[in-house]
Amino acid sequence: MEKLSNQQLAAIRKRLLQLEKNLSQQIEINRDAASIVALDQTSVGRISRMEAIQQQSIALSTRRKTCLRLKRVQDALRALADNGYGFCEQCNELIAFERLLARPEANLCISCQNHADTKT
Ligand SMILES: [Zn+2]
Repeated sequence: MEKLSNQQLAAIRKRLLQLEKNLSQQIEINRDAASIVALDQTSVGRISRMEAIQQQSIALSTRRKTCLRLKRVQDALRALADNGYGFCEQCNELIAFERLLARPEANLCISCQNHADTKT
């Protein structure tokens, strides 16, 4: 099984660091939106409380997903430092470089991912 070249690893590392930065920023921006809805009608303004609660739950779920993705990105960066990056968690095969470039935080190869997707 071929290994990723240093050049490929460097490209992925760059992408991961960029993602880490973007995701952290998103979490920061999202923090206010996800904070508890003020029950005080005056601060809610024209939007109804129902709408505010709905928006909050969307913001919370986005935030959860973003946090999860950030954690994966950080795991990938750690794996990269340990030379254990790019292997599928399920079958231990090297994940295709194209896939890693598109989703550098991927921890499953395409076939295991498809398998996992059809299961859920
Ligand atoms: Zn796999």
